[in-house]
Amino acid sequence: MNEILVNEPGFRYKQIEKAIYADLVESWDEITNLPKKIREELAKNCELAIKAELYTTKNKTNKAVITLNDGAKIETVLLRHKDGRNTVCVSSQVGCALGCEFCATGTMGLKRNLEILEIVEQVLYFSRILSKESENKGVTNIVFMGMGEPFMNYDNVMKAIKILNDKDKFNIGARKISISTSGLIDGIKKLAKEDLQLNLAISLHAPNDKLRTSLMRINKKNPLERLLEAVDYYIEKTSRKVMFEYMMIKDVNDTDLHARELAGLMNKHLYLVNLIPYNPTGKFKASDKKSIERFKHILGTNGVEVTERYGFGQDISAACGQLVA
Ligand code: SAH
Ligand code: SF4
Repeated sequence: MNEILVNEPGFRYKQIEKAIYADLVESWDEITNLPKKIREELAKNCELAIKAELYTTKNKTNKAVITLNDGAKIETVLLRHKDGRNTVCVSSQVGCALGCEFCATGTMGLKRNLEILEIVEQVLYFSRILSKESENKGVTNIVFMGMGEPFMNYDNVMKAIKILNDKDKFNIGARKISISTSGLIDGIKKLAKEDLQLNLAISLHAPNDKLRTSLMRINKKNPLERLLEAVDYYIEKTSRKVMFEYMMIKDVNDTDLHARELAGLMNKHLYLVNLIPYNPTGKFKASDKKSIERFKHILGTNGVEVTERYGFGQDISAACGQLVA
């Protein structure tokens, strides 16, 4: 594209970006305020179509498997909420290097990081679909809970967020964008200094180092005490609420003892615990409803702010976190 636009005035880029990200054009011909010759050149050299297969689950959740230019595949999920919000769960990497015991993506290993536009493209794909439906608000929320660890691809994730946030592009507010991390201390500290109103979620899943390391080996280098210090630093810098995701795994992390231990860590201002169901990936069993209720009750009576919904006020039957292409 750079070569084609080399002799063009500088505003051409802005014009094209607006057409693609805000007006959601799907062919170069639709950008009528571009000179015809340039449109033809671009059509020959730059593909605007997104190669994807779309699946729909029974609760109206859409999953798209997108094939990237090098043939790698990633999954992206669209969650349609009853109140009209549309959340896209985006991937940040092809696979993931961190290999958490409960996670399907982890078993793939890391293939590669996603490019900035490969992250943006996932949102664009669903924006296009939604724009063709009547009475829709388009994509309103983004969660980085698809494949990969966002902080292992920090720079590209941040640059993608800039495009999603840009008023002349997707115009999705920072407060509507959430990053979920397995708890990488350096990433949390870095994010604290960005001066952005993003939402941060920490995948906690265990109330002590021994259990957490057995489920998530990154805990070895990012142990709980230092992890929570980093979270406190983030809260001090941003005054933002932080959500701790706690997946309920039968007889592994869901006993009364675990609940009390967790309460001891989480009874803090601006800490919010979100209990999520474990999506079976073969290794463990999901906790039953009664255990989850008990667990929630113990947290609540010990002064912990606790919800049982997925994401920041979104209720889904965990579509994210178990993606394998
Ligand atoms: N790597 C990041 C973001 C992607 S995973 C992270 O780990 O936070 C998104 C969420 O799905 C995380 O909270 C993760 O712990 C969770 N998850 C992984 N496997 C899951 C499973 N089998 N069932 C339910 N949630 C799962
Ligand atoms: Fe990677 Fe997150 Fe899955 Fe762990 S839970 S393997 S960090 S994607």
